[in-house]
Order: sequence, then C-alpha cells, then structure tokens
Amino acid sequence: MRRITVFGATGSVGESTLDLISRREDVAVVALTGGRQVDRLAELARAHRAELVVTAYEECYRPLNAALAGSGIEVAAGPGAVVEAAYRPADWVMSAIVGAAGLAPGFAALSQGLILALANKESLVTAGPLLLAEARAHGATLLPVDSEHSAVFQALVGETIETVEEVTLTASGGGLRDWPLEKLAEATVTDAGNHPNWAMGQRITIDSATMFNKAMEVIEAREFFGLSPEQIRVLIHPQSLVHALVAFRDGGVLAHLGSPDMRHPIGYALNWPARAALPVARLDLAAAGRLDFFEVDPRRYPALGLARVVMQRGGAAGAVFNAAKEVALDHFIDGRIGFLDMAHAVEDTLERYESHGGLGIAPNSLQDVLDIDTAARRHAVEVIGAGYPAA
Ligand code: NDP
Ligand code: MG
Repeated sequence: MRRITVFGATGSVGESTLDLISRREDVAVVALTGGRQVDRLAELARAHRAELVVTAYEECYRPLNAALAGSGIEVAAGPGAVVEAAYRPADWVMSAIVGAAGLAPGFAALSQGLILALANKESLVTAGPLLLAEARAHGATLLPVDSEHSAVFQALVGETIETVEEVTLTASGGGLRDWPLEKLAEATVTDAGNHPNWAMGQRITIDSATMFNKAMEVIEAREFFGLSPEQIRVLIHPQSLVHALVAFRDGGVLAHLGSPDMRHPIGYALNWPARAALPVARLDLAAAGRLDFFEVDPRRYPALGLARVVMQRGGAAGAVFNAAKEVALDHFIDGRIGFLDMAHAVEDTLERYESHGGLGIAPNSLQDVLDIDTAARRHAVEVIGAGYPAA
C-alpha cells in the first residue's frame, strides 16, 4: 500500500489527483487538507477513507466536524494543523495549496524524506534554493507537477543537464491573447478568467492572461533544473499540445506533447519512475491539424520581463515578486485596479522594496521567506493605494 497525503485536496489539482487515486487499489489516503469548501472536503474524506482531514480555517472546524460525525475520520483546523498533517507517515505527498500558504506544509513534508509532487509553484519562486536544500538534506525527492516542468523533466530522462542548450516553455497566451492592445486596460475579471485550453482555478487562469503564470514558471524552471536565465525561452503556442521543448548541444530537440489535461503530469509524478496507463484523451495530431508558435510581445505581457529582473536580482526578489503579484491579483479580482495595473504594481513594489531594504538579501530560512512575503505585501498595498486609485 502506498500512503498518500494531498494538500489542497478541494482545488483543481487536488481533485485531479484524487480522481487518479480513486482508480487505484494500492493507495491508502493518510490526510486531505482543504480550505473553505467544507462539504466537498468531507465528501472527499469519506470517499477516500482518509485517516485525517484538515481545513486551513479555524472557523470551518465545526461544520467539518459535523459533516464527518460518525465517520471515525480525525478532524483538525488551522494553518498549524495543516503543517502537522505533513508529519503523518506517508510515501507520496501532493503539494497543491494555492499561494504562499503552500510553503510551510511543503517544507514539513520534505523533512520526512518522502516524494513531494510539487504543484505549488510559489514554493520554488519564493524559496527555490532553500526548498532544494531541504530535499537534499533529508533524501527527499521533488517531482514537478506543473505541465511544462513535467514535460522538461520527462525529456531529460537519461540525459544530463550539462548537455542542455536551451529549454522552451510554451504558453497559450491566455484568454486575452487576441484582444487589441489598446483594449487590454479595460479587460474585466470575467474576460481574463476564460482560458482557451486548460480548466484551472480562477487565480491561475487570470495569471495566464497576464502571463504572470508563465513568469512564475520561468523562475520555477531556473530553480528546479538549475538553468541560467538565458537558457529559458517562452513561445506562444495557442494549441497547448506541445508543453515544452529541450534543445541539446548536438542540435537535437526533444518535445513533450499531450492533450491539455493536468492528470497527465500528476499521473506521471504519481507513477514515477514508471509509466502507468492514464485516463487522458489521446493526442490526435491529424485532428489538431497544425501546431503554431509565436514570439511573445513584451508590450502585451510585461510580466515576463519582470521575471527576468527577478532572476537577475536573486535574493529576496522571487518572494517579493510573488507577494506583490498576489496582492495585485486580489485588487484586480475585487475591481480595485485594472488589468494592466497588475504588472505596474508588481514592478513598483519591487522598486520600492529595493529602496527600503534591498532585494539582494537572500532568505536563509522559511521564516525569512514568510517575513519577506509579509513586508512585500505591505509595500504592494501602499504602492497600489498611492498610484492606482480605484476607477
Ligand atoms: P485552486 O484554487 O483550485 O485550489 C487551491 C487549494 O488550496 C484548495 O484546496 C483550497 O481550499 C486550498 N487553499 C486555499 N487557500 C488556502 C490556505 N490559505 N491554506 C491552505 N489551503 C488553502 O488551485 P489550483 O488547484 O488551480 O492550484 C494549486 C497550485 O497548483 C497553485 O500553486 C497553482 O499555481 C499550481 N498549479 C495549478 C495548475 C492547474 O492546472 N490548476 C497547473 C500547474 C500548477 P478550498 O478550495 O477548500 O478553499
Ligand atoms: Mg503550467
């Protein structure tokens, strides 16, 4: 029996993970964690006969406990209880909480020397070097779940990173790819929340429209694979069938293709190092007809340029970038700033942080990362309050 814990079980990645798990007989679910979707969390816990179920919110304890009355499933609540769940013995853990809240549980899981399937990209962006060191120190294995990074990882099986010249991550361009540039400033949450190819959570879908998601992924790729910024390229590929390409020094290029379904990269991590059958739609290239690739227009997607600044600066820049992006996204979702203001706000927060404390000071611990996150959020709120008054 493989003992498995899923952090962020009620989310898009969490649900897909549990869908794959429900098709297997050899898995015992140790712990499931969620947030405010208490009824769904209770349903999943019953269906998978979890030992422990945790909501990140104290106020959700009562309803969760009531929903699981008589089930024999242990119930806990609060951010501390989420982290505690990582110490329950397990073999394989999915990190699929959204945002900086996913950081501490991931660190705790790695300290147990197990396999951590990492969907929470914020972990690598804010604390890449620390996270990798933690994995090394405890003999834990970190596997990528982001589809582009899983694609690169798969192309690198049997290869060494020294033979890689360049890695290309593909991007769909998001829901506003074909909008006229001059209209972008007026884009609403509904406009930006439609993804042409992938079904995902609201936040990551808007991050696809701005390409903040791809910016995070470029930083993630640099950290995970130890590439230099110059080795990472982004191309727009509207069909989302080629997920990444790896160019080697002999001129050969390996691409990873597949239909856009997160159950592929999740399933690859679940079965790694083996390949098992997965219930995903098969790629039909004749039906697809064509595969297009375009350069990214930096005027349309300024977030990608900011990722370059972050990689150049290093230190605290990744954590500041992520925090500012989350604050800017909250403000956009609440209708307090416009679509294009998000990138301006992140750029201004990076500058303001630099002028106050300096981006160059690298975090040495998880607590340092959380402190940088808190300070950066404060700067972001002030920057937005001063420069982007509500329309
Ligand atoms: P969702 O928003 O769909 O789900 C997030 C999960 O985290 C839910 O279970 C939610 O609980 C829980 N959660 C929310 N806030 C907190 C908190 N403060 N503390 C603990 N748990 C919390 O996100 P996705 O599944 O889309 O994404 C998860 C991660 O994976 C993100 O980092 C994302 O960037 C990454 N990712 C996602 C992909 C995708 O296809 N969706 C692809 C690649 C990476 P509840 O809903 O019950 O409140
Ligand atoms: Mg991705």
